[in-house]
Amino acid sequence: PVNRTPEMQQERLKLPILAEEQTIMEAVAEHPIVIVCGETGSGKTTQVPQFLYEAGYSSEDSIIGVTEPRRVAAIAMSQRVAKEMNLSQRVVSYQIRYEGNVTEETRIKFMTDGVLLKEIQKVSCLSGLIQDSGRVESHWRRRRYACHDFLLLKYKVVIIDEAHERSVYTDILLGLLSRIVALRTKRRLPLKLLIMSATLRVEDFTQNKRLFTTPPPVIKVESRQFPVTVHFNKRTPLDDYSGECFRKVCKIHRMLPAGGILVFLTGQAEVHALCRRLRKAFPTRCSQPQEKEEEKDSAEGMRRFKKSRTRAKKAQAMTLPQINLDSYSVLPAGEGDEDREAEMDDEEEALGSDLDLDLGDSEANEGEQPDASLPLHVLPLYSLLAPEKQAQVFKPPPEGTRLCVVATNVAETSLTIPGIKYVVDCGKVKKRYYDRVTGVSSFRVTWVSQASADQRAGRAGRTEPGHCYRLYSSAVFGDFEQFPPPEITRRPVEDLILQMKALNIEKVINFPFPTPPSVEALVAAEELLIALGALQAPRKDERMKKLQMSQLSCPITALGRTMSTFPVAPRYAKMLALSQQHGCLPYTIAIVAAMTVRELFEELDRPAASEEELAELKGRRARVAQMKRTWAGQGASLKLGDLMVLLGAVGACEYAGCSPQFCRANGLRYKAMLEIRRLRGQLTTAVNTVCPEAGLFLDPKMQPPTESQVTYLRQIMAAGLGDHLARRVQSEDLLDPKWRNAYKTPLLDDPVFIHPSSVLFRELPEFVIYQEIVETTKMYMKGVSTVEIQ
Ligand code: ADP
Ligand code: MG
Repeated sequence: PVNRTPEMQQERLKLPILAEEQTIMEAVAEHPIVIVCGETGSGKTTQVPQFLYEAGYSSEDSIIGVTEPRRVAAIAMSQRVAKEMNLSQRVVSYQIRYEGNVTEETRIKFMTDGVLLKEIQKVSCLSGLIQDSGRVESHWRRRRYACHDFLLLKYKVVIIDEAHERSVYTDILLGLLSRIVALRTKRRLPLKLLIMSATLRVEDFTQNKRLFTTPPPVIKVESRQFPVTVHFNKRTPLDDYSGECFRKVCKIHRMLPAGGILVFLTGQAEVHALCRRLRKAFPTRCSQPQEKEEEKDSAEGMRRFKKSRTRAKKAQAMTLPQINLDSYSVLPAGEGDEDREAEMDDEEEALGSDLDLDLGDSEANEGEQPDASLPLHVLPLYSLLAPEKQAQVFKPPPEGTRLCVVATNVAETSLTIPGIKYVVDCGKVKKRYYDRVTGVSSFRVTWVSQASADQRAGRAGRTEPGHCYRLYSSAVFGDFEQFPPPEITRRPVEDLILQMKALNIEKVINFPFPTPPSVEALVAAEELLIALGALQAPRKDERMKKLQMSQLSCPITALGRTMSTFPVAPRYAKMLALSQQHGCLPYTIAIVAAMTVRELFEELDRPAASEEELAELKGRRARVAQMKRTWAGQGASLKLGDLMVLLGAVGACEYAGCSPQFCRANGLRYKAMLEIRRLRGQLTTAVNTVCPEAGLFLDPKMQPPTESQVTYLRQIMAAGLGDHLARRVQSEDLLDPKWRNAYKTPLLDDPVFIHPSSVLFRELPEFVIYQEIVETTKMYMKGVSTVEIQ
């Protein structure tokens, strides 16, 4: 029995999904798989888990699991449901990549889709899962313990929420769950699967016979949505949509009746810039006190790190030591993985920073006079924002002010902000694009899909009739694509392929993906994994034929199995597997952790609101450049380039106790540094499992590597990034000025450049390897290190 407060009960009754409780619960009772569709805000996420709980779908040893593609949503929703049910977070809990509050008492568990995938992958005995479930059965009997997790026996119900987002992990989970549900039915331990989606395009799920042989029933929740009047701009502004947003919000705030405003922009920097501008134009009495910069570095820690490095440099170094590329750690046969993590990272905010960005001018205040008579309560919302700041948007604004939330597309479907009457939609979204062949990625701001634009408009009609202002013309809207394409068709898949191979799904091409990745992407992934030694290479004569026939069925190697246990991309896993030699492990772990967590350094290339801020930003940029040079060092260590900077930054930061002050003083993102620390811990555990004799522990006073270790590290890095090789163009190529200071890579015809933020920007070594190429104004290599080609 749930003991809700009368107020809460009152509020719930307003939600349209309450009218469907019986229909949903009957469908769940009769069918193993049910799809629930309903407008954002209709109550799916908060109510359906409660229906199931009240109907007895959870017990001490079998609980309700809910997956979300975003960490923000997993946390916020578990808190909300606990509050609605008047239960503690010990009972309604969450688990995200590195943290959670799950207990023995937990009955409803919100988690990211990556966390559930990890739980499934904890076992590696799934031979034939996809091809032949009968064989799994007998296998299962033999290795009862190991299969326990695979069958997800600790769940009575799994809810895949926000399935319309089509995140890669959601898609893979659906493929796996379709089989797990069948196996559980066979074993008479039925597992219920609920798929919840905000849009009505569910044909990818219902019409896909390979995924679900019997199409699951679809329950549509009629939303009690109020009408939203959509206003198109007559003309579409060419590029200054931020300025257009600003003008539109000013107008609404000055002329239109009470009601919250929600603005959709594309990225964190834009969100902040608009917030600042709006706060200035409509100050509230308690305008946020500017956080005073604590420039008091913990320079002490840094000095010590530098000093000990000097000492290490003096240590004897061998000449050109060689790492043994065939000496890697592998798991003893039959060991399961302990600490796997795979998770969709909200990457929309991890911008490739572009030094060519114009500074300052977009902030011109156009003679706006601050107007304190019309206070506006302006709040930012984006995925990297600290959770307590995110929670602000759910609170009513201070008396006498109007709420204005400036958000990225996190506000499109995952979170419903109360009291919004006006939506201002710039019509754009920032997405990471990958080139399928070269892997070059770029962040592009593009038009959203029609489905997304309608979602955004819908945010205005939750509590009363509303208005949506689209800052583009109806003709432009007509050209938008109807739906956004699923993520799995848009990104490299080597990590997924390795994980699937580790699950003994050899013929990946036969996997019941809701939407399969392209054959080119599968081939590229398999080729890379073969090159890394994770998959067995087919015999030479077979090879061409095989790949052409898209058989894609190379089995996993012992090295590949080990690599799959490390919670990082295959390239980085290879580096870890090689690093037990010459005591390189702690360094590789630190570098890999830093490479995996995007954007260590604060974004300092943002536009400044004032002369004062510009000067301050300049100062901080100079400081960061200085620190990078210090961390990179000279001679042998500088050859490791940006990767040495990462190692130095992690080392110095840990030395200083990883304090917010230290990070701020050195331009490091505190949140990123904490995440690196967690990931280092996790990698250390994973490595110890594979290679217990290493006896690794996280040393906060890690000594810098010796000169010969730096040389080994460069070879280890090259083993993972070997195909990311670039050569400085030779002088005869310099005829065309566009090749000045350029590099040539095997796959690209166009010149690539070392990114200006790299410590090797001025060094221009002959051969380099890079972590990634990001295309902004040019193609830039980031995470650059030198290699010697003999
Ligand atoms: P759906 O999943 O269908 O999009 P939700 O279950 O997330 O809908 O939301 C249902 C309602 O609960 C919405 O009206 C929303 O405003 C409200 N709500 C959700 N989270 C909170 C919260 N943390 N504080 C206040 N109201 C919330
Ligand atoms: Mg929801």
